[in-house]
Amino acid sequence: MKGPTKDSHVGRPCDGQRLVNPSVDCGSTVLFADYDTFRGRKTNFFYGRAGTATHRAFEQSLCDLEGAVTAELTGSGLAAVALAILSVVKSGDHLLITDSVYDPTRYFAAGHLRDMGVETSFFDPQIGAGIADQIRPNTAAIFCESPGSLTFEVQDLKAIISAAGDIPVLVDNTYAAGVYLKPLAMGAALSIQAITKYIGGHSDLLMGAVMSRDDTIAEKVQKTARSLGLSVSGRDVALAHRGLRTLHRRLAVHQENGLALARWLEARPEIAAVIHPGLPSHPGHDIWAAQATGTTGLFSVIADWTDDATTGRFIDALGLYGLGYSWGGYESLCLPAWPGTYRSAVPWTEKRQLLRFHAGLEDIGDLTADLERGFDRAING
Ligand SMILES: *Cc1c(COP(=O)(O)O)cnc(C)c1O
Repeated sequence: MKGPTKDSHVGRPCDGQRLVNPSVDCGSTVLFADYDTFRGRKTNFFYGRAGTATHRAFEQSLCDLEGAVTAELTGSGLAAVALAILSVVKSGDHLLITDSVYDPTRYFAAGHLRDMGVETSFFDPQIGAGIADQIRPNTAAIFCESPGSLTFEVQDLKAIISAAGDIPVLVDNTYAAGVYLKPLAMGAALSIQAITKYIGGHSDLLMGAVMSRDDTIAEKVQKTARSLGLSVSGRDVALAHRGLRTLHRRLAVHQENGLALARWLEARPEIAAVIHPGLPSHPGHDIWAAQATGTTGLFSVIADWTDDATTGRFIDALGLYGLGYSWGGYESLCLPAWPGTYRSAVPWTEKRQLLRFHAGLEDIGDLTADLERGFDRAING
């Protein structure tokens, strides 16, 4: 079955007279049929915190999407990142993280992990096989996010995974939504997603998931999740599962609009550079094209100006692009950002304004016309 067909058919009830969708089970207490079942725990469900049939159905769909043995759900994407890392590191360990990582992941490492005695080094996202020189005897994991969701450096995951040997490689796969990049098939131990983004797809929920390559690592993730008491509501799970039904179809449009916008912006005099791994001008284009099967709606540009007032006029003149965090919904967004404030391995020296775009599902002519108005206000006041 191809992706769009799976979106429609995996993780659904399949016997007898039934509703199209899994039931929306919510609850804490699970009542046991009798004392014998209670004592023997001969049941799939024993307490709400460990999930219900609604959770299992969505987890099944995620496993199918990412080629995983298990999917562990969390209350946000950041919680999934934290769960994945906490499952593989302990006090005294060393962790390698790409310098282009989602900044709250950086803060989790630089704060919480440091306090528990885990040392983190950030590496040049374009290091490739050179990662071998960064590995120490106590390196417990390598954390990648390809491309970085703000500056879009592509990591050579094949080279990193090969250099890592037995050290688990963790990949934040939110950008590609498990559709265009398959880290587990490439040998990564864990693939992590903010379900909040493309799988949710409608900006109406927060959720994360950690997908495991094999039973050994899956057991560690599950144990950690159970001991931390992580749990998500069945109502949110049903909403996320509904988002997943249209995932491949939506992503195809995000991809098309993203590339069209990027190409349109590349030709504008107000834009100094477009940073989109799908464009041949991107330094990581060839690696991405070799390791992934598509791009999505997220990319950045360097505007040909440095002052905040111009940025303000541009943003405030836009009617279709929202100004706000997160992305992956049906609607377009434009977010100014300043990566120079937190990079450490490879300083961000660009002085001109970075703008991150999320191409939604709107008509591309409407989207470019809106930007045209923005540029006119930005430049002419
Ligand atoms: C948004 C995002 C997260 C965090 O997801 P939340 O659900 O907002 O906590 C993690 N990683 C990446 C790459 C993201 O874009």
